[in-house]
Parts: sequence; structure tokens; C-alpha cells
Amino acid sequence: MIPLAYDVVIIGAGIVGAACADECARHGMRVALIDRDGVGGGATAAGMGHLVVMDDSDAQFALTRYSQLLWQQLRSDLPADVEYEACGTIWVAADDQEMAEVYRKRAYYERSGVPTVVLDQRALERLEPNLRKGLAGGLLVPEDGVLYPPCAAQFLRERALAAQAKLHLGSVLEAGKGRVRLSDGQEFVAPAIVNAAGTWAPELTPGFVVKKRKGHLAITDRSPGFVRHQLVELGYLKSAHSLTEDSVAFNVQPRRTGQILIGSSRQYEVEHSEVDDGILVRMLRRAQQYMPDLAAMSIIRVWTGFRAATPDKLPLIGPLPGDPTLFLATGHEGLGITTSLATARLLLDQLTGRPSAIAMEPYLPSRLVREHAHV
Ligand SMILES: Cc1cc2nc3c(=O)[nH]c(=O)nc-3n(C[C@H](O)[C@H](O)[C@H](O)COP(=O)(O)OP(=O)(O)OC[C@H]3O[C@@H](n4cnc5c(N)ncnc54)[C@H](O)[C@@H]3O)c2cc1C
Repeated sequence: MIPLAYDVVIIGAGIVGAACADECARHGMRVALIDRDGVGGGATAAGMGHLVVMDDSDAQFALTRYSQLLWQQLRSDLPADVEYEACGTIWVAADDQEMAEVYRKRAYYERSGVPTVVLDQRALERLEPNLRKGLAGGLLVPEDGVLYPPCAAQFLRERALAAQAKLHLGSVLEAGKGRVRLSDGQEFVAPAIVNAAGTWAPELTPGFVVKKRKGHLAITDRSPGFVRHQLVELGYLKSAHSLTEDSVAFNVQPRRTGQILIGSSRQYEVEHSEVDDGILVRMLRRAQQYMPDLAAMSIIRVWTGFRAATPDKLPLIGPLPGDPTLFLATGHEGLGITTSLATARLLLDQLTGRPSAIAMEPYLPSRLVREHAHV
């Protein structure tokens, strides 16, 4: 079979690969986007779709904020089925200790130009009357939003195809040194290959660590107005920070349908995708502690997904040491819906040598990856 020649071959058509294909194709590159499952079989189909600025580190903050602004710019182009809502996040503080975190967070966000509003007990009760009474307050981040990830990825994929990108269905066996080989024997050649295969990325490119971090989500039947913002307990930060322990946190999202999406859990060293009753019950109980009337609602679907977690909680975006043709775009953990657009921009900046809007060094694979001796 004659190899197919492109300027860039992108492996994985989840939201990260789709965003990269869209960015490169609209820049005029000849792009191949390859996925074995067609549309959205990975984390993108399972994600919560919270577009959130997070301040775990300066680099995480820079990437999430940059990407959030890119989503805002895209807003008027998004079709209705993407269900983009600028509903804002409220970080809920249960007690005075968590209120101290509210003030710390506000100072950090405001210093970096992200608007916030501190809510006292009464203001929180007014904005979210279905939260349990007696919570200390919270921090409203009005520019955060939510969307429906599978349709957002579909939009980016279709825009890439409209800009002449080609979608190939197939399973990639090998990638590197300017070549990609599929299981059916088809080969591709390109000066740039992007491994955007999510949690599967290390199977194609050995030498770096991306661990699976399992999550559960549940969705209720319709109850419009019950939740108005994405509500997250400040304790979520502890849960998201742990690199070893299973954890749950109160994290609920209003859907445009009036349904309530309930998260979230994190589990390590778990490979199977079945629903784990124990952790699901813990997660739902935690949600009910914050919103007691959730107990009266029906859960109509529960599912799981896997986040791709790096040891330093930052994604891998950039060339692989030892193979200048091979780029990584993976390791986005619980933020890949948010950061997909910024990832694509940084990738194109690297491919074209143009300056980036934010420093790209914190995300370069060279910080974590051994010299690549594959293919
Ligand atoms: C429960 C849960 C909640 C989340 N909530 C949020 C949230 O609120 N906000 C947020 O920003 N992020 C969230 N995330 C994270 C987000 O979903 C992911 O970071 C993001 O979807 C990753 O996208 P991706 O394109 O890198 O990977 P994926 O969507 O997994 O796509 C990888 C693709 O690669 C393909 N592939 C793999 N190997 C091969 C191969 N050998 N050949 C061909 N194709 C291959 C797969 O078929 C797949 O389609 C959540 C994740 C989970 C699990």
C-alpha cells in the first residue's frame, strides 16, 4: 500500500485530537485525523464538561484561563447541541477554614485578572436555595461555564473536516520517525505526528507515564432551576490533589435539559470500567450532604470514564525528546475539555515556530519523558 502523505497526522479524535486537527487544518496544513472508534469512545464521551479555571499551579492556571477565553471567543459559533452555558462556578465553603481558602483563591484570581465574587452565607443561600442551610459561603467565578463534551468534540471535528482535514478510521499500531502504521497495513508519512490518544497514548509511545484515574458520574431526571451554577465543594481541591487515595467530592452541574449531572470520584489502579457501587454510593451521599433534596430525585444513568493523569498534574504538549517528528498532546486529567483549545494553539505554535500567548515550557514532554527509542 502506498503511504498517505500529510503535513500532520493526529492520532485520536477525542476533544484534544479534534481541537488540534481543527487548529492545524484552519492554518492551511494537510491534516489526517485517525481514530479506531470513530467518534468519541474515550474520556471525551464520559467527561463532565465543566470549563473551569483552576489554580493548582501557575501553569495550570495559565492554561485553563487561556483556554477558557478561547471557548468564550468560540461561543457564537457553537451549535445549540454543544449546550454552552456561562453559568459560572461556585466554590462552596462549608466552614470558616474553607472561607479562608475562598479569600486566598479570590486574591489569586483577581491578581490574574479573573473576576470573582465572595459570597457570604446569605448570598449563597439566595443564589442556590437548594444547598443545605448553614454553609459558610463561597466564591463565585462568573466566567466559568459548562458544555456537552461529545457535541463540542463533534463540532471541532466537523470544522476540521470542512477545512479539508481527512478522518481515517483505523487502529494505530506504531507511530514515530515521521511514519504511522495502522493495523490494516495502511501507512502515513508526515513531518509531524501528534499522539492525542488520551489514556492510550503510552501504548503508542513508551517512555512516559500517564496513569488512568477512574471517575463516576450520575445524571438525574429533569428538575429545571434546582441547580443554577456548577457547584463544587472546596474540599474538591483536596480530592483532586491526592495522587493515590480514592476520593469523592460534591460537584454538581446544571444541564440545559434541567437535569443535574452529579460527580465526582477519583480512583487509582482500577482498570475495569464497571460501575463500582461502593464509590458511587459515597459520591451520591456526599452530594446529598450538600443538597439534601437530591435524595428525592431519580438517577437515570450512571457511567464511568478514565482521566489521563501525569505525575505533576500538567498535560504533555510538545515534541518528544529523541524524535522531533513526534508530538504529545495528552495527560489532561480532569481538565481536557477545558484545555483542549489552548492545547491545540500551543501545538500549532510549536509546529509553526510562532510565539505563544502563554509560556509553553511547563507542558513540554521533556520535563518527564525519557529519550524516545521507539520505531
Ligand atoms: C468522569 C470524568 C469527568 C471529567 N470532567 C471534566 C470536566 O468537567 N472538565 C474538563 O475540562 N475535563 C473533564 N474531564 C477530562 C476530559 O474528559 C479529558 O481530559 C478529555 O476528554 C481528554 O480528551 P482526549 O481527546 O485527550 O482523550 P479521549 O477522549 O480519550 O480520546 C482519545 C482517542 O484516541 C483514540 N485512540 C486511542 N488509541 C488509539 C489507537 N491505537 N489508534 C487509533 N485511535 C486510538 C480513542 O479511540 C479515543 O477516541 C473528565 C473526565 C472524566 C473521566
